[in-house]
Amino acid sequence: MLRQTSRILDYIYPAHCHLCQCPLTHGRHLCEPCSESLKYTQAPFCKLCGECYDGDISSDFSCPNCNDLKLDFEFARAPLHSDGQSRTLLHDYKYRRQIHLSDTLGDLLSIGLDDPRFAPYLDEGILVSVPLHWARLRKRKFNQAEEMTICLKKKTGLPYINALKRIRNTATQTRFSRSKRLENLRDAFELRAKYKNYIQGKRIILVDDIFTTGSTTHECSKVLLHHGASSVAILTLLRG
Ligand SMILES: [Zn+2]
Ligand SMILES: [Zn+2]
Repeated sequence: MLRQTSRILDYIYPAHCHLCQCPLTHGRHLCEPCSESLKYTQAPFCKLCGECYDGDISSDFSCPNCNDLKLDFEFARAPLHSDGQSRTLLHDYKYRRQIHLSDTLGDLLSIGLDDPRFAPYLDEGILVSVPLHWARLRKRKFNQAEEMTICLKKKTGLPYINALKRIRNTATQTRFSRSKRLENLRDAFELRAKYKNYIQGKRIILVDDIFTTGSTTHECSKVLLHHGASSVAILTLLRG
């Protein structure tokens, strides 16, 4: 419903760039200069968490933060750094219900799929998004990760399934340390039973809006792998 309303509004009120307010005609909500001014992530980055580093590193490396962590996903990639502009976009989308930004953010998110490590996932993978607890979904009206994943489904032709359920409405994690986050999220996710056969042996691209410590995506990956998925790779819009 929200999605349809936003399409109708696009028709009545021609789009403006969400960041600089200049009028636009191409049906998206970001002008070229604003889009070019976003901070895109670039190699070299940690082969696990996607954190970017300066310098001339051509071989695979994992960063000091990841060295002694057990992360269940294969790797995480985000096309954008979290900075003032990208945070404004995501914040307005998520908390101010600017759902008309879905396609624009979905386009940006899809840039992360250029990473060659996604190639086998794009051949025969499945898209899954990090779920919201029903109580939070009721308040927010939409799941930002799911909406962006639906855009990816259109772009890639991969199937999307709402495979995971959040069974505990955990406290917001923003101020927690990594270990506190993991503790807070333990057993917070569950596989929807009807997808158990479907995910057997499958590669899964798990989508979320932002990657900070990787606790949420790690917990979701654990559930998917436990139920038979062959591997999980993470795609998020921002690297926090
Ligand atoms: Zn602009
Ligand atoms: Zn790392």
